[in-house]
Amino acid sequence: MLQSPPAEPGMREEEVDTPALILDLDAFEANLDAMAGFLAPTGAKLRAHAKTHKSTVIAKLQMARGAVGQCVQKVAEAEQLAWGGIPDILVSNQVVGARKLARFIALARIADVAICADDAAQVAAIEAAAEAAGVRVPVLVEIDVGMARCGVEPGPPAVALAERIAASKHLRFGGLQAYHGSAQHQRTPEQRAASIAAAADSARRTVEQLRQRGLDCPIVGGAGTGTFRHEAASGVYTEIQAGSYAFMDADYARNDDAPPFRHALFVLATVMSRAMPGVAVVDAGHKAVAVDSGLPVIWERPGLRFVGASDEHGKIVIEDGAAPALGEKLRLVPGHCDPTVDRYDWYVGVRRGRVECLWPVSARGGMA
Ligand code: PLP
Ligand code: MN
Repeated sequence: MLQSPPAEPGMREEEVDTPALILDLDAFEANLDAMAGFLAPTGAKLRAHAKTHKSTVIAKLQMARGAVGQCVQKVAEAEQLAWGGIPDILVSNQVVGARKLARFIALARIADVAICADDAAQVAAIEAAAEAAGVRVPVLVEIDVGMARCGVEPGPPAVALAERIAASKHLRFGGLQAYHGSAQHQRTPEQRAASIAAAADSARRTVEQLRQRGLDCPIVGGAGTGTFRHEAASGVYTEIQAGSYAFMDADYARNDDAPPFRHALFVLATVMSRAMPGVAVVDAGHKAVAVDSGLPVIWERPGLRFVGASDEHGKIVIEDGAAPALGEKLRLVPGHCDPTVDRYDWYVGVRRGRVECLWPVSARGGMA
């Protein structure tokens, strides 16, 4: 069940109830514009990843700036976007289970939907679901380009799977999914450039081999916020799947030559205890902010350091500068946006200190 919204339009940010997910609208819109401006001259298109924002509203704003569609990671996310009118959705992932596939295939009647596979048995399962529903859907072959997670080997194994897809009356070969996730947070630009050069080589080689077998490769998709500049310049990738760029997290800010985006997403927290000398405790712990990619950073308060979270508490050490008062509200920059967003029902959109809008995090939740 949705929780009550923590704010109302017109309120000052300090009045917002906490913990709350704050979206700084000026910074957010600047990020959307920056990505659109960056990609325009490259020829690569944006298919933004909705696993970050889980919001039909944000998907629409990205599409209004030229994104060709959205990626999702789960059928439940695809449903929310398709039901909300997003016309072009790629499940950039493997989906296993007849019920999930039937739900996915049903979306083909209301949107252009595509899906990935890295196994002939999976292709057969998607084919059976498409046949039963009387639709034809594109399937992309996921190749492993260095992340060692999902994906068949580039080259002949990928070509064989593509031929299996193309031979089906109920499927179309949609292209290659070539995401290199572990390159995103490599700290130096040289490491990231080398990883994506190798990924692009694998993709390029596979595209050539597909062509030799008479198969056109309409999409080569991949890239995230840490590396998209390399994929976009490669001449191989046609679709960029960055998601976090819209919000920018504290961990991406730690990359050397960090991606050129502003922090737009914050968890607003209230100081709930000052009993311990030199310490402030806020009402934002594990249930309010994800710490898998590092602890949050306190926004524009250099003397305050977030040092640890428990379920409902965040501990802040006061190193120097003005100590926060009991009841004071602080903005935390999450280390990782995607799982942080998933903890909230509402974005509180703020512009220059005033709440402007409340947007539901409509695709949040655990169901795949
Ligand atoms: N594409 C895929 C398949 C992903 O799994 C991810 C994130 O993990 C992304 C794109 C986007 O990455 P980011 O949010 O870091 O831009
Ligand atoms: Mn992420």
